Amino acid sequence: MRPDVLNPLFAETDTLEGVGPKLKKPLGKLGLTRIRDVAYHLPERFVSRRAVETIDEAGEGENIVVRLTVTEHRGGRSPRAPYQVLAQDSIGNVLTITYFGRASYTAKKQLPVGETRWVAGKLERYGDMLQIVHPDHIVEEGGDTLQRLCEPVYRLSEGLTQPRIAGLVTQALARCPELPEWIEPTQVAKEDWPAWRDAMQLAHKGEHKAARDRLAYDELLANSLALMLVRADNRKRKGQPLVGNGSYRGKLELPFPLTGAQKRSIAEIEGDMAQEAPMLRLLQGDVGAGKTVVALEAMLIAVEAGAQAALLAPTEILARQHYESLRRMAEPTGAQVALLTGRDKGKVREATLMGMLDGSIDIIVGTHAIFQEKVAYRNLAMVVIDEQHRFGVGQRLMLASKGKRAPHVLAMTATPIPRTLTLAQYGELDVSKLDELPPGRQSIDTVVMGQDKLPALVERLAAQISEGRQAYWVCPMVREMDGPEDIAAAEARYASLKERFGDDVVMVHGQLTPELKDAAMQRFASGQAKLLVATTVIEVGVDVPNATLMVIEQAERFGLAQLHQLRGRVGRGSQKSFCVLLHGETLSETAQKRLSLMRETQDGFLLAEEDLRLRGGGELLGTRQSGDTPFTIASFEQITELLPMAHDDARLLMERDGGLEGKRGEAARTLLYLFERDFGVKTLRGG
Ligand code: ADP
Ligand code: MG
Repeated sequence: MRPDVLNPLFAETDTLEGVGPKLKKPLGKLGLTRIRDVAYHLPERFVSRRAVETIDEAGEGENIVVRLTVTEHRGGRSPRAPYQVLAQDSIGNVLTITYFGRASYTAKKQLPVGETRWVAGKLERYGDMLQIVHPDHIVEEGGDTLQRLCEPVYRLSEGLTQPRIAGLVTQALARCPELPEWIEPTQVAKEDWPAWRDAMQLAHKGEHKAARDRLAYDELLANSLALMLVRADNRKRKGQPLVGNGSYRGKLELPFPLTGAQKRSIAEIEGDMAQEAPMLRLLQGDVGAGKTVVALEAMLIAVEAGAQAALLAPTEILARQHYESLRRMAEPTGAQVALLTGRDKGKVREATLMGMLDGSIDIIVGTHAIFQEKVAYRNLAMVVIDEQHRFGVGQRLMLASKGKRAPHVLAMTATPIPRTLTLAQYGELDVSKLDELPPGRQSIDTVVMGQDKLPALVERLAAQISEGRQAYWVCPMVREMDGPEDIAAAEARYASLKERFGDDVVMVHGQLTPELKDAAMQRFASGQAKLLVATTVIEVGVDVPNATLMVIEQAERFGLAQLHQLRGRVGRGSQKSFCVLLHGETLSETAQKRLSLMRETQDGFLLAEEDLRLRGGGELLGTRQSGDTPFTIASFEQITELLPMAHDDARLLMERDGGLEGKRGEAARTLLYLFERDFGVKTLRGG
C-alpha cells in the first residue's frame, strides 16, 4: 500500500484549480496526469532577463524588461501582415512590438495608446527597426515584472502556455509534503543536497545543480533498489533445475551452422537452467544477430526436461511471426508449438488452453495473454521475453515469476542499449551477448535524401519490385495526431503509392483492426504483396528476407536507435539491400549529424551511444516513450555521473541496513512508491 503521505501527490490533475477537461488533454499529452507528474515537470531551461532603463543599454538578442509608452497601433492592413505596436522608451527611442497571427485583440487590450507598461521579451533587430516579437509579459506599472528576471521554460503541448503551466506547477509544488530522507545521510552531507521538498521547489526556481542532481539521484536510486529487490526475491525462490538430454535439440535441422556467439550464449543459458535458482538472464544482440534460434534451443532444453516453455512477444504481429518461425524450425523435433493471443476466441482458444493444461503443448507463443489469470499450465518452467525494452523490466520479471516455482527467465533485446545504461536498465542481470552477426550478411547501403527526391525514389522502387524484390515504406505517424501538419500520414502515402502499384501495396498501422493487420502482414510475408506501408509497428522483429529496400520518411524525427531497428528489417537475405532516409526541407545541425551517422555505421551500440550524446541531457526528457532509458528525470549526464553511486547506495541499504526494514527502509519504501517502482516492494512481500 502506498504510504498516506504520498496521497496528495497521486491526486489527479483536475484537482488543481483551473484544470478541467479542456486542460487535461494537453497535460495528458505531456504525461502529466497527477500532481506528482506536474511537480516533476522540471523546466527545460531558464530565461534570465535584464531590466534596462533605455533600449540603448540592451544588446540585440538580449532578454530584457523595459518600461515603454505606447504611441501607435498599426495593424490589419492585410490578414497576413503582422500586427505592430509602436512604443517609446524613457528617452524617446522607438521600438516595435510585433504580433503574428490573430493577436490584435490582445494587443489592443494590453497595450492601449498613451499608456505605460513594463514589457518583457527578447530585443531583436528587423531591418533598421528594433522590435520585440510576442512579448513574454506585459504588466501595468506597479506590477511584478521586475520579479520575473529569471523564469523557467517548460516543455509544452498544444493548448498550454508558459504562464499556464507555471501556475499549475506552483499549485502542485504547494502540495508537496515533506518526505523522510531516503538517501544515505553521509551522501546528502557530502554533496550538500537539499531535502526532497526543498529540492523540488529549487529545481523550478533557477539553475540549481544540487537540487536537480538530488532529484535525479532519487530516481536512479529507486530504480536500482527496485531491480535489486526483484533480484533478491528471485534468489530466494526455488526454480526447477532443467537438464536436457539433447533428444529434441538433436533433431533440429537448421539450414545454417550456429555462430560462435550463439553457441556460447546457449551454453551460458544451459548452465543457468540446470541450477535450482531461477535463471534471470538477458540475451542482447543486434538486429539480425539470430536471437530466435537461441531462444528455441533454450526452450527445447525445458521440453527435454519434461517441462513447458513460453515465449512472450510485445505485439500481436510479432507473436504470430515468432510462432510461424518457431513452429517451422521445431517441426522435425516433434515439439508441439502453439499460439495464444488476446484475439484468439472460441474453440481454438479452448483447445489451446486445454493443451497447455494437459501438457500436450510444449511451447506456447503469445502476447501477455499467456500470463492472464485464467491461463494455467501443466508445468511452465521457462519463459522467454522478447524485446524486453517494450515492457517495464521489473513488472515483466514479476509477471514471469507467477506461480509457486519461479520459471527460468530469458529476456531478449535487440535494442542496443548503451553500455552506460545497461546497469540502469537491467540492474545486475546476467547478460549473454550475441556480438557476432551470422556470416554472409551484406552491409546495407544507406542513402540520405530530401523529400523532394520522392518521384525518383518511386521509380527506383518500381525497378526493385519488377525484379521480384520487396520493400518497406515507413511513415512517422498515422493521421496528424499530435504533430504539425507536415507529418506524412501513412494513409495518404498508402493511397498515393496504391495509385502507382495497385494491389502490390499493403498497409499496417496501429489503428487498423487486428484482422486487417494480419491479412496485410500475411500478404507481405508470403510475397504476394511487394510493398508494405507502415507506421513504426514494424519496428521490431519482422523477418522477411526478400525485402531489400527500406524507405523511412521524415527520418529526422526518429531516434537513431529506432532508425537502426527499422533498417535492420532489410539486409536479411543474400541480396544487396538499401535504406533510404528521407528528410524534410530544413534539417537542424544535430539532425544532419544523426542522419550522416546512420550512413556511416551499422554498429547498433555505437549508434545508441551517439544518439544519447548528440541529443544531450535536456532532450532526453522527451524520449520517455521511445524506451531509451527508464528515466524521466535523470539526464544522460546525470545517469553517467550518479548511477554508480545510487547503485552502491542501494546495495548498502539492502545488505547492511536491512532492506526495507528500519527507519531508512521505511523512507526507501516511500521512494519506491513515489517513482512507482513499488513492484520491488511487492516482490519482497511475495504479493
Ligand atoms: P534477431 O536477433 O533480430 O531476432 P533473427 O533470430 O530473426 O534475428 O535472425 C535473423 C535471420 O538470421 C533469420 O532469418 C535467421 O534464420 C537467420 N540466422 C540466425 N542464425 C543464423 C546463423 N547462425 N547463420 C545464418 N543465418 C542465421
Ligand atoms: Mg527477433
